[in-house]
Amino acid sequence: MSITREIINETKEYSAHNYHPLPLVIERGEGVWVYDVEGKKYLDLLSAYSALSHGHRHPKIINSLVEQASKVTLTSRAFHNDKMSTFLKKLCKISDYEKALPMNTGTEAVETALKAARKWGLLKKGVPENQGEIIVCENNFHGRTITIISFSSEAQYKYGFGPHTPGFKIIPYGDEEALERAITPNTLAVLLEPIQGEGGVIVPPEGYLYKVREITRKHNVLMILDEIQTGLGRTGKLFAYEYEAAKPDILILGKALGGGVYPLSAILASDEVMSVFTPGDHGSTFGGNPLACAVGKTALEVLLEEDLASKAHENGVYFMRALQGINSPLVQEIRGKGLLIGVEIKPQYGTARPYCERLMELGLLCKETHQQTIRFAPPLVITKAEIDWALERIATVLK
Ligand SMILES: *Cc1c(COP(=O)(O)O)cnc(C)c1O
Repeated sequence: MSITREIINETKEYSAHNYHPLPLVIERGEGVWVYDVEGKKYLDLLSAYSALSHGHRHPKIINSLVEQASKVTLTSRAFHNDKMSTFLKKLCKISDYEKALPMNTGTEAVETALKAARKWGLLKKGVPENQGEIIVCENNFHGRTITIISFSSEAQYKYGFGPHTPGFKIIPYGDEEALERAITPNTLAVLLEPIQGEGGVIVPPEGYLYKVREITRKHNVLMILDEIQTGLGRTGKLFAYEYEAAKPDILILGKALGGGVYPLSAILASDEVMSVFTPGDHGSTFGGNPLACAVGKTALEVLLEEDLASKAHENGVYFMRALQGINSPLVQEIRGKGLLIGVEIKPQYGTARPYCERLMELGLLCKETHQQTIRFAPPLVITKAEIDWALERIATVLK
């Protein structure tokens, strides 16, 4: 039996079956490339759902990791550490917010944003306790906790995990009139993604975010933007909201914030919002740990130094045009922004999964999302030559 088979079998034997991975076993990664246990090389076009925007093992980021690991890794927030404040300052400066609160995973940051909104509603907006409502969008993806799946519109994410958390209202995505109709005096916030990544790379109509910003401002409702996947350069701007000058009241970041090496997330907000938290209200043992913060600070530096947002923009346009140029009869639609691109397969040609499997055989790693869509989200450090290499193979599979 091959090593690959052995490891896959062992995984099946000992792990929960909550994933359906492609049948390869990665052993090593560098830049945009990964190598499996058989020594075969693949171009990573998924980059861990955008967590690897800097590529695998960016030398500067690894250097920070190793350097910090040789000093201190974890202090808990019971004490100060010498890395958290410099990281948060950098994050606040580059994103133009007053305050940041660090967590570990994206899901935790979303939960943090929801808690902030609820308490803000009580203390600042004067909505009676337990009456506040948060509006979310159909087809959203914000994580996997019980509260977050409570407002998912995906039956599978919810089935069997009830009772669900109340206090959420679901409206159609991309429809600002539905938003305005849904707002009541008890509405605290609207939570949404600038582009629905997990939902199939759904790009809302132009002007939508701008209008959401206007409506929320008018009604004293917080706009919470989940840029865990779209943020930090992915869509060709540092943040996707910049396309429409729709700076949210609470910005949620994760994934690439940890430079592809360490879980790190955060929410950013004004002092007015963040001040609702007082000691003991909220926390995390690992949140703000020095290892994460050292890595996060370097990840932000690399992002700016290498101008990854501009690269994502330029290469995104190039990639998207070339994909359109393939003129595949199998393709329903190609959509996205920057280096977050979805290729939707027409239902009569089956689901996206077998195409991902064929691409894997040709040395390209990507993953289907929402049955019909292949998502291409390579590390932002990818070059045009590497995109060309990918395109040749994509054309082979889609022709
Ligand atoms: C990945 C993702 C999350 C969840 O992040 P985790 O780190 O997996 O908890 C939340 N929102 C969006 C938009 C995401 O893409």
